[in-house]
Amino acid sequence: MNQIRLSPSRITDFNNCPQLYKYRVVDQLPEQISIDAERGKLVHSVLEKLFDSPQGLRNLDLALSLIPTLWEIQKEEVPGLEALITSQKEWDDRVAALLATYFLLEEPNSFDAAHREMHVELNLSENIYVHGYVDRMDIAPTGEVRIVDYKTGKAPQPRWQGKALSQLKIYALVYWRNTGVIPRLLQLIYLGSSEVVRSAPTADDLIETEVGLFEVATSILSATQENSWPPHPSRLCDWCSFKSICPAFSS
Ligand code: SF4
Repeated sequence: MNQIRLSPSRITDFNNCPQLYKYRVVDQLPEQISIDAERGKLVHSVLEKLFDSPQGLRNLDLALSLIPTLWEIQKEEVPGLEALITSQKEWDDRVAALLATYFLLEEPNSFDAAHREMHVELNLSENIYVHGYVDRMDIAPTGEVRIVDYKTGKAPQPRWQGKALSQLKIYALVYWRNTGVIPRLLQLIYLGSSEVVRSAPTADDLIETEVGLFEVATSILSATQENSWPPHPSRLCDWCSFKSICPAFSS
């Protein structure tokens, strides 16, 4: 049997809409460029690069100065992106505003990032591989670990925050299983609404996450064997690249 590859993004896809998962993972269809995703990518790149400079120099001016070079690289990597930017000023202002919000939420001169864009992976079982990229991992001198993820959108309502944190719980589980250390803190930094969502995971939380991974892997395996990928229409359809071919919208 082929190994099932799980990542937080693909789990979210499957849970939101199995048909969307099929288009992305099974069929590997190309997608339209998402301006919001590309803006988020640029902000992530700047925040990653920010920590190359020593403490004391990490400020908004430095962050803004990093944009032009990183933006040029991104445009080269994504053909067609530049043509989608209808107002460069609007784009620049939005990116700058998101970065300005970052400095309201964290003081990056007070710590060093141990890892940035860190690939974490785990063979959960013989047939299940879990992986993902951690935006930033901080390790205190005392050894306590903090996993940080930047979001350029708005924070969810409190009742949905547990779901939002599930991505970081997967990373925490992978880190725990690989090192024996449970991260002390999970932190989602929402630059779109200037909020931080935090959670201190317990062993029970991460075991629950692990059980959830086995369950979603079983569901994906079953969908694969039965070739059954029901569409689940929702408000997400308005942003879906595959709406024009989706059976939920064919007349
Ligand atoms: S259009 Fe909606 S229902 Fe269809 S694949 Fe996309 S998200 Fe799923």
